Amino acid sequence: MELYQLSLKELIEGLKDKKFTRKEILVSFYTRIQKINPIVNAFLTVIGGNNWNDKEGELSGIPVGFKDIYVTKDIRTTAGSKVLENYIPQYNSTVVQKLVSKGATIVGKTNQDAWAHGSSGENSDFAPTKNPWNIDYVPGGSSSGSAVAVAAGMCPVAFGTDTGGSIRLPASFCNVVGLKPTYGRVSRYGIIAMASSHDSIGHFTRTVYDNALILNMTAGKDPCDATTSNTNVPDYTKNIKNGVKGLKIGLPKEYLAKGIDPNVEKIFKQVLQKYEGLGAKIIDISLPHTEYALAVYYIIQPSEVSSNLARYDGIRFGNDRNRFGQEAIRRIMLGTYTLSAGYYDAYYLKAMKVRTLLIQDFKKAYEKVDVIITPVSPTLPFKFGEKTDNPLAMYLSDILTVTMNLAGVPALSIPGGFVRGLPVGFQIVGPNFSEDLLYQVGYAYEQVTDWHKQKPKL
Ligand code: GLN
Repeated sequence: MELYQLSLKELIEGLKDKKFTRKEILVSFYTRIQKINPIVNAFLTVIGGNNWNDKEGELSGIPVGFKDIYVTKDIRTTAGSKVLENYIPQYNSTVVQKLVSKGATIVGKTNQDAWAHGSSGENSDFAPTKNPWNIDYVPGGSSSGSAVAVAAGMCPVAFGTDTGGSIRLPASFCNVVGLKPTYGRVSRYGIIAMASSHDSIGHFTRTVYDNALILNMTAGKDPCDATTSNTNVPDYTKNIKNGVKGLKIGLPKEYLAKGIDPNVEKIFKQVLQKYEGLGAKIIDISLPHTEYALAVYYIIQPSEVSSNLARYDGIRFGNDRNRFGQEAIRRIMLGTYTLSAGYYDAYYLKAMKVRTLLIQDFKKAYEKVDVIITPVSPTLPFKFGEKTDNPLAMYLSDILTVTMNLAGVPALSIPGGFVRGLPVGFQIVGPNFSEDLLYQVGYAYEQVTDWHKQKPKL
């Protein structure tokens, strides 16, 4: 086995046992990036071979990729948009700084939908990333490059952002593990804002255990982000092996309603059977306001987007407004409309009220069950161009993921199988700050399946 095929845990243990050196790891991954990136376009900026971080720490010798929406000191940060094509930040985001101070080497900045608007990667101003399982298909978005970088062995860990599904959807389409943490669990400081009350800062790994290891390093209060929580940060690997015997897993009936591809449903039912086999109890529940979630998201999110993107108006700083792509312009217009006098009450305020009802749906559900489980995407990965002319069809890709962002709850996407060679994931959703439980539930499934061990042939 090549070093680039190992998981984070295997790399860290191998280093400890002196099976290989830090340099050998980095060279293995750099070589892989040189070979594969021209095919899949996962990295917008690749950082050259000799630039490794020589700081001593838990992650010394470990290559890490960051979505190009994470501000990185002296490294170009575009957010996938031509507007920021030449932006070189002067500081690191909190999460980048935490990783770098533990010795991680940044191997590059990954491709994404511009400003994180999208579900397929096709809104990138620098050409889309391709799905390593079949390069005619989209990898999911908006954190496309990071999911592909991990799936294709270009780094064992990569970071994304999830505002409405942008970590979970590409994780599901690429057969990797992706976490959307509780809102406020991980600092947003230094991450270019999409919709500030939804943005969740998470990461992709090959295994559930690796994912927990990384959350141990990123979670916690940050004085630079007032929305981060003081809630205690446990060791997320501590209970991971406790299993699911007797655990109550909620199955919300609204998530298997019409519109779900029968292939996705079939895989999902197999996942449920596995959990039953492991001793969990599957309990039918209802999240009654689910049907309004997508509409609510596409009112509140563009409202916040229009506010956040107003700072790039370019009038004072010599940038041309035309540099914004179609999707950003669409959202700025929608958001400006929903916030304008006369429409604010009818749209924004109303949507905010329904948002509260969605939060209550989850609270009530967790009185009956420990976690909830649902598919991630209603469809299989789709082909390039299939949905680009129809924004509504594209927005429907997020119908099973946006609700968790509106409610702020954490969700973990796990590889659940394949249909015609294309990956299908499922998600485990928990109460606020229950990431340790999500890992425990995800890990139990991973031990009795080997989807996560499959590797794309590239
Ligand atoms: N696809 C969703 C959107 O376009 C979510 C994006 C995200 O999570 N960044 O808004």
